[in-house]
Amino acid sequence: MNYHVLTLFPEMMEQGLHTSILGRAMDKGLIHLNAVDIRDYTEDKHRKVDDYPYGGGAGMVMQAEPVYRAWEAVKSRMGGKSARVIYVTPQGRVFDQSLAEELAREEELILLCGHYEGVDERVLEEIVTDYVSIGDYVLTGGELAAMVMIDAISRLVPGVLSNEVSAEFETFHEHLLEYPQYSRPEVWREKTVPPVLLSGNHDRIEDWRREQSFLRTRNRRPDLYTKYLEQEDLVSAGNKLSKKRLKMIIAEEMLLGDSHTERDWAEEFRELAEELGVKLVLASGSDPERFHRIFQAEGIERRELLVFAASAEGVLAARADKLRTVYFPADPGEQEPKGLVYYQKISDLLEGMAVIRRLCRG
Ligand code: SAM
Repeated sequence: MNYHVLTLFPEMMEQGLHTSILGRAMDKGLIHLNAVDIRDYTEDKHRKVDDYPYGGGAGMVMQAEPVYRAWEAVKSRMGGKSARVIYVTPQGRVFDQSLAEELAREEELILLCGHYEGVDERVLEEIVTDYVSIGDYVLTGGELAAMVMIDAISRLVPGVLSNEVSAEFETFHEHLLEYPQYSRPEVWREKTVPPVLLSGNHDRIEDWRREQSFLRTRNRRPDLYTKYLEQEDLVSAGNKLSKKRLKMIIAEEMLLGDSHTERDWAEEFRELAEELGVKLVLASGSDPERFHRIFQAEGIERRELLVFAASAEGVLAARADKLRTVYFPADPGEQEPKGLVYYQKISDLLEGMAVIRRLCRG
């Protein structure tokens, strides 16, 4: 990946990026920084590149010609290759992980950093392909914004991170925040590492981490959590079910988790049922036949939506590798089952709750 940064402060870019992981990536030739000093392209004998704004107002504006000539110089160096030209500006699309992923697929990127009150609009119209902001606040110049973008993009360039897996399963992957991380020592100031992480059981660890991701995203970033649920299209199968036909059955003994206790989960489901005015049945066991008996006793019909949790180890969990809508047989031997059931792992309980909420809202 070649970055060409048009700036008034090339040394700031070089110093800021030539350290740690990115410094090593540059030494290895995985990424390359060409910091272009816009002042080298002015004809003013004092290397001036800014002037007063037409129409009056505070501050100075970067003039069009030096910026245009700096861009031309970069283009000619690229030997005819095309490249996106990104003007970093608070007025742009907000930079996020998906844009970082998109830009990491480019071979060449040109970033234009403004300063003072910004850049003469005419040159922007001429050369810029993308307007990108790093957030809803105003910086004094674009250099820090360009560095933020280069950092986030570069770690997605193959080979830049020593362990590529670490870029795959982290915050924002599938719109979820990453689970909490722990390192040595096992006990620090009387705080212990969650026991599941020391268990050596990779399925349980993965379950726990997923659960933590859900909880954390729901609590800290409900906006992202909503996106995650939408992306999964969790309710498509149950869309037509009315609230009247909705009943939940929860396998009580499955509501065990290392972080969220059994009581927490049961309480959350109870509160939800109360809030929505739907029937909640708590039952224990993971044997499908036992569930059939419970359905009969509770008068739950096949066509009612039933939501329950399956434990990681339980019989039903074999079909619960991910939140999934399946048809539940009227009797265990039935080949063409009719009732709708969400089979879930403990870590998917939050998703189940969100599905119920959305169904009841409709
Ligand atoms: N007058 C401009 C406005 O109101 O949109 C702000 C100019 S700002 C003081 C100077 C330069 O900093 C901008 O030209 C831009 O390159 C950069 N900049 C400031 N905030 C930024 C942000 N949130 N994201 C990206 N670049 C930013």
